[in-house]
Amino acid sequence: MREKIEYKSDDEIVAMRAAGLVVAAIHEATRKAIRPGVTPVQLDEIAAGVLAEHGARSNFLGYHGFPRTICVSVNDAVVHGIPSETPLVEGDVVSVDAGAVVDGWHGDAAYSTVVGAGAERDAHLVEATRLAMWAGVAALASAKHVTDVGHAVQDEVAAYAAAHGVTHDVVRDYIGHGIGTEMHMAPDVVNYRARMPRNPVKPGLVVCVEPLLTVGSQDNTVLDDDWTVVTRDGSRAAHWEHTVAVHRGGIWVLSAPDGGATELAARGVTVAPLA
Ligand code: MG
Repeated sequence: MREKIEYKSDDEIVAMRAAGLVVAAIHEATRKAIRPGVTPVQLDEIAAGVLAEHGARSNFLGYHGFPRTICVSVNDAVVHGIPSETPLVEGDVVSVDAGAVVDGWHGDAAYSTVVGAGAERDAHLVEATRLAMWAGVAALASAKHVTDVGHAVQDEVAAYAAAHGVTHDVVRDYIGHGIGTEMHMAPDVVNYRARMPRNPVKPGLVVCVEPLLTVGSQDNTVLDDDWTVVTRDGSRAAHWEHTVAVHRGGIWVLSAPDGGATELAARGVTVAPLA
């Protein structure tokens, strides 16, 4: 069984690039602001300012009632954190997930970082998640099926553990997705080996690749705010995400300022911008 997927034309992918670049601008602006003492609500206001500056709309604000412009998930928060007034402190692990809508097309991307000089263990968490995301993105250049992304993510997590002697769990309850005229569309993009519909990777596919890793068990629960997902064991989590387009000429990371050129070159993939 295959899901109904919205395949995009080259022109539509070019239009989606505009939304991806606004998300990249939100990442840049919030990253610059992250330091001890800053509150997630302040990061949210910065993100809203970037959207306004670009004439873009938020796809998070009001989504099933979500009350803010971005998600900020701190420490044991895995994903969907509602920005709070609690100031960040040195050593916090912060994940910022942001989106934008431009001319009806959606972009969605996330990054994690450690506030100031943190623990080595947390640096490993953030880096392993980042590399897992890029491995998943790179896989799209040669993947036959969307499920190949999950294989690449899991292989990268295993490779990181072997290289650095630190293990991470891969979150199974939250996964990547297709994106385009809506933020969340078919197909599902899981981050593990799975038996599921073998959706083909073919020109016009645009998906968000977004692994979430935990230091301890990936077992999680949702807080009383109905949004913030936290690990049950209190261990820390990280989240990286990019919006990636597949077209006849190759792949293009729409939410990366350089289209993914640097990271993909390191993995033997030549990025193929359409504009
Ligand atoms: Mg997403």
